[in-house]
Amino acid sequence: MTVFKGFEEIVREKVSLGPLTTFKIGGPAEYFLQPRTEEELAAVLVRCGEEKLDVHVLGGGSNVLVPDEGVTGAVIQLEPKGFGGFAVVEGELVRAGASLGLPKLVRSAAEAHLSGVEPLVGIPGWVGGAVRMNAGGAWGDIGQVVERVQVMDARGQVFWRDRDDLAFGYRRSNVAARFVLAAELRLAEDDETRIAKFMKEIWFAKKNAQPMSNRSAGCVFKNPRGMSAGALIDQCGLKGTKIGGAIISRKHANYIVATAETKAEDVKKLIELILDKVNEKFETVLELELEIW
Ligand SMILES: Cc1cc2nc3c(=O)[nH]c(=O)nc-3n(C[C@H](O)[C@H](O)[C@H](O)COP(=O)(O)OP(=O)(O)OC[C@H]3O[C@@H](n4cnc5c(N)ncnc54)[C@H](O)[C@@H]3O)c2cc1C
Repeated sequence: MTVFKGFEEIVREKVSLGPLTTFKIGGPAEYFLQPRTEEELAAVLVRCGEEKLDVHVLGGGSNVLVPDEGVTGAVIQLEPKGFGGFAVVEGELVRAGASLGLPKLVRSAAEAHLSGVEPLVGIPGWVGGAVRMNAGGAWGDIGQVVERVQVMDARGQVFWRDRDDLAFGYRRSNVAARFVLAAELRLAEDDETRIAKFMKEIWFAKKNAQPMSNRSAGCVFKNPRGMSAGALIDQCGLKGTKIGGAIISRKHANYIVATAETKAEDVKKLIELILDKVNEKFETVLELELEIW
């Protein structure tokens, strides 16, 4: 492999991306790389630039739909061992690596008697993806506790962005650098039992309302201002609608769930159908929350 000569230990060709996503759908990456250190990542990015390769960044794969034909260029996922650490920096300040899974972040914080990340219960992504798109929900979001974020730009330069310079909104942030490497979160000391109780409350509320055990990428659309995307889809009578192997969940209309036979194309067609029906009935254009590669 001449393109990534010298990186043989961390690159593989034609890696199926489906298993790396929560939808479990999608074709291969031309090149799949898992850098273990900042230096390796920087060198990989420089090489991608020299070779003029498209770069896709993959975290936990819980908010992306990979096309059936796969993606050309490089898909880069920060290796979990190298970038998945959790540490209490001092007192109530913790540092979480970009590849730390949110369930582990929530558990580790609770074990340290620190409260603030419970709203992330039930969200299967990783810290990097969560910061990039300000993951959260009715109980709060990660942006509320972010103190600073360590990022790397497309040329491999690493820097920190502080709270004053960060903006988090509904499922979006102004963290535009190529990679989030880590985030420091300002939590609050609390009683472990109280934290556990809150976590349980959120978990049960989500389990009742959302198809948590099905293959999906979470909510497909953002809620339009003052409205619920799920309610609009439901009022179009679309719950249970199926195209190929993709189904609009009967439990929560803003979820498309997949079976072993589902193709990305089925999901895309179902998305088109929802967009058309909601626009026709409510003159509202829904905006995608999940990302189609
Ligand atoms: C069952 C289920 C429930 C969910 N519930 C919620 C919920 O309640 N609230 C919510 O907000 N989301 C929810 N989601 C969606 C998803 O878990 C979140 O959006 C999560 O933050 C995505 O993180 P990820 O690591 O999986 O990102 P990915 O899906 O891998 O990537 C998402 C985006 O972030 C970018 N990205 C990933 N890692 C990095 C990085 N290190 N640096 C820079 N960019 C990066 C990717 O390029 C892509 O643009 C749910 C998903 C599922 C499957």
